[in-house]
Amino acid sequence: MQTTENRTERMDCSHFIDGSYVQSGNGKTFENTNPATEELLGNVAEGGTEEVDQAVRAARKALKGEWGNMPLKKRSNIIRKIGDLILERQDELARLESLDTGKPIWLSKSVDIDRAANNFYFFADYMTTVGTEAYQQDDIAIHYAVRKPVGVVGLINPWNLPLFLMTWKLAPALAAGNTAVMKPSEVTPITATILAQICKDAGVPDGVVNVVHGFGETGAALTSHDNVDAIAFTGETVTGSTIMKAAAPTLKKLSFELGGKNPNVIFADADMEDVIETTIRSSFINQGEVCLCGSRIYVERPVYDEFLERFTAKTKELVVGDPFDPNTNVGALVSEEHYNKVLSYLDIAKEENGTFLTGGKAAEGFDKGYFVEPTIITGLGKDSRCVREEIFGPVVTVIPFDTEEEVLEQVNDTHYGLSASVWTGNVKRATRFSGQIEAGIVWVNTWFLRDLRTPFGGMKHSGVGREGGAHSFDFYSELTNITLKM
Ligand code: NAD
Repeated sequence: MQTTENRTERMDCSHFIDGSYVQSGNGKTFENTNPATEELLGNVAEGGTEEVDQAVRAARKALKGEWGNMPLKKRSNIIRKIGDLILERQDELARLESLDTGKPIWLSKSVDIDRAANNFYFFADYMTTVGTEAYQQDDIAIHYAVRKPVGVVGLINPWNLPLFLMTWKLAPALAAGNTAVMKPSEVTPITATILAQICKDAGVPDGVVNVVHGFGETGAALTSHDNVDAIAFTGETVTGSTIMKAAAPTLKKLSFELGGKNPNVIFADADMEDVIETTIRSSFINQGEVCLCGSRIYVERPVYDEFLERFTAKTKELVVGDPFDPNTNVGALVSEEHYNKVLSYLDIAKEENGTFLTGGKAAEGFDKGYFVEPTIITGLGKDSRCVREEIFGPVVTVIPFDTEEEVLEQVNDTHYGLSASVWTGNVKRATRFSGQIEAGIVWVNTWFLRDLRTPFGGMKHSGVGREGGAHSFDFYSELTNITLKM
């Protein structure tokens, strides 16, 4: 494979506790590799209960210090400055994000890093407008609510959009006045490590933002810690369930963004040009490693053949390759473990007698790295594991349908409920159908169009609670109601 940029750069990652980079007390580290080359990217400090405890103590102390008493305007300016510094370092952060995840560099730059900065800009503005409630009870009393930070929050994140998802939690947490301990994915530790320094450079006092690296045990130490008030978690459904149990004895506030198996429903009256262009993105962007990707595609029978022909042709044009080549559409999967998981589902599809219209195997021409061909599978029934389970790779199934009732039943026949896309030119159907889908987010004639004020999250096994705008702010705040007798 041709190399278009220096991809042998090394980046060791330390914890960031109380304003300084530190190693683990026992000196333990683990290796982080580049999924496109399998080369060592660097060593990562492996934290345990001791490091988590140090970080939590620093965060608790900082809550009582300057940060806890900082005027709103000053705090908002610091949060905006974090956004500025992210953009100043956009090229560097995009390069490191692509080295760490295997995603195309153009995507890191235009989506991950750009949206990471935007999260800070959005909440820097939002925090200056947010209010609370007040009620006058005749001439008896006035009741008003006072907003306070929750306290020390633990932010635990996955590997697919490392910086973007961390900032989606950190920005509102800081805006609401909390202090934080971040636990990035062990698979993609780099950009969170830099984010901590960026926060410090922007004027965030020491101890407000901390990072502890490590595996699930490190996250577990955070979830069960007595002095952590809330956990915001994004990751797999089964991990969410484990965290819920671990957090129960200390009754933490929890916000969960979990897995999905999102349907993409295409009616015959949809604009097919638009459908194809967007479905290519919603299926294969970021190697299909976006929780919102539409991996179950349902197409109304009259346009089924046309859809398959055009969708297959476009999919075959996608370039799987070096994340640093600007022509690459699909990069490497994030890790060997995940690559093997995705390939195992392709074996399952074969056992289930699925038909591969494209892909179905590891991409050819790579001596190293975790590349999988974009894969379209037909001929699978609704009980197929490939139709029901989250694969989280460049793999979609396509199933024809005849009636609205039939497809609605299949759409909702899942434990998941994160997002869905509906394609139709009929406004009445769009309203009727989208309202009946059991998912937290439904896009009509589009996909991944976000406005940060809107509620974001999943129902059923796809999440607990909502993030975005007021929802994030409410999660990261506590309200005290004060009653003033007249
Ligand atoms: P994961 O659940 O394996 O890991 C996520 C994080 O949790 C990691 O930092 C990991 O170290 C930590 N962790 C693991 N076990 C833990 C434990 N017992 N206690 C505390 N922390 C623990 O998920 P992943 O494989 O990194 O990410 C992929 C998953 O994330 C997919 O299911 C995807 O759908 C989901 N996801 C959801 C959203 C959303 O917004 N709903 C967004 C992105 C990804």
